[in-house]
Amino acid sequence: MTQTNKVLVVGSGIGGASAAYALRRAGLEVHCIDSKSATPTTGAGICLLHNTMRALATIGLADQCLDSGIAFEVFKQHDFTGRLLASNPAPPGCGMRRPELARILEGAAASAGALLERGLTISDLNDRGDKVEVTLSDGRQHEYDLVVAADGAYSKLRDRVFGTEYQARFAGQSAWRFNAPRPAEVDGFCLYRSADGKRTVGAIPTSRDTCYLFFLENSAEHLHMPDGELHVLLRERLEGFSAPVIRDSLALVSESSQVLFRPFDITLVPAPWHRGRVVLLGDAAHSPTPQMTSGGGMAIEDAVVLAECVAACESIPQTLQAHSQRRFERVKVVYDASLQLCNYERDPVPNPQRSAALLLKTYQYLGQPM
Ligand SMILES: Cc1cc2nc3c(=O)[nH]c(=O)nc-3n(C[C@H](O)[C@H](O)[C@H](O)COP(=O)(O)OP(=O)(O)OC[C@H]3O[C@@H](n4cnc5c(N)ncnc54)[C@H](O)[C@@H]3O)c2cc1C
Repeated sequence: MTQTNKVLVVGSGIGGASAAYALRRAGLEVHCIDSKSATPTTGAGICLLHNTMRALATIGLADQCLDSGIAFEVFKQHDFTGRLLASNPAPPGCGMRRPELARILEGAAASAGALLERGLTISDLNDRGDKVEVTLSDGRQHEYDLVVAADGAYSKLRDRVFGTEYQARFAGQSAWRFNAPRPAEVDGFCLYRSADGKRTVGAIPTSRDTCYLFFLENSAEHLHMPDGELHVLLRERLEGFSAPVIRDSLALVSESSQVLFRPFDITLVPAPWHRGRVVLLGDAAHSPTPQMTSGGGMAIEDAVVLAECVAACESIPQTLQAHSQRRFERVKVVYDASLQLCNYERDPVPNPQRSAALLLKTYQYLGQPM
């Protein structure tokens, strides 16, 4: 057992909340802070693949996710009219609403005894070697054995400790997302391709009654959309799709606030993911494009593996070395596959079969131990 007793987790998103819970279960005193003042209550859906469900099962949270979301085992491809072109079995995953996942992860961490505080960040940090001295934004000062930077793709803690070299860069694609009632047809990961094959709409079930849809837009430059017009701009973009799933869902989108628009900013920090006693976790270390629906899953795996390394290793350097060794190659495979799929979609001559084959092959890889 390591000499790690007290941990600060910075960020309580999917990765931070999972780490707070997994480390608390491993017997550590956990303090978790997040700069946002409240747990998100809105947001789109998320797809938790088979490996993510396995990681959640390891820390006893898979059933809660399945109860709140919906299990699925199929990957389906359609044309723009909704005609089914191909249906492939997929390893069992779960779709759910993001706020529900946040509620489950944060609830588990708090119930296990982690101290979660919101509206707080780090003002200063000094890694002394034997401890990390931290000044919080409210002026309090604490000492920790380990600091986990789980503050997302735009991690300020990563910039502070690793320098600005690994800041996220635009991947040439953005996502439009909106929630909708679930038609029976959306019983798995569903894709709809435009007539020329160059545009893709996806649908993922998030509960028995709900699903979410996404549209991927390619652009050379980082796009900025006017906040109040997202619903109008989305309609324009989905004009050519006559699939009833898309038309009926879109008919219910009447306000800009129902639509989320997000450019894909990506980064992969090379191993090792630590400097001294500060370790990167989740999007702070690896923010992929979302084609493999795995960024959140990789963050959850990071958290579970970190807790396992804490339990198995004698010292902080050993723990963090072991963590990077177990995580980097696996994360890189998923990051590369996601980016390859993104680039396939940006290709002037799209080839959906090639994309589907890579997706299914990477699903298989994810079945290997984390
Ligand atoms: C369009 C899209 C679809 C996706 N779909 C899927 C999917 O289906 N399945 C999947 O597994 N993944 C998916 N992902 C990826 C997934 O959303 C991310 O990988 C995941 O949210 C990363 O979690 P995280 O906790 O590392 O970072 P975040 O979720 O970004 O959380 C970071 C947290 O840190 C806090 N924070 C930020 N800065 C500070 C600071 N300075 N001090 C304190 N706190 C701070 C933030 O408030 C936030 O709560 C998708 C991503 C996108 C963009």
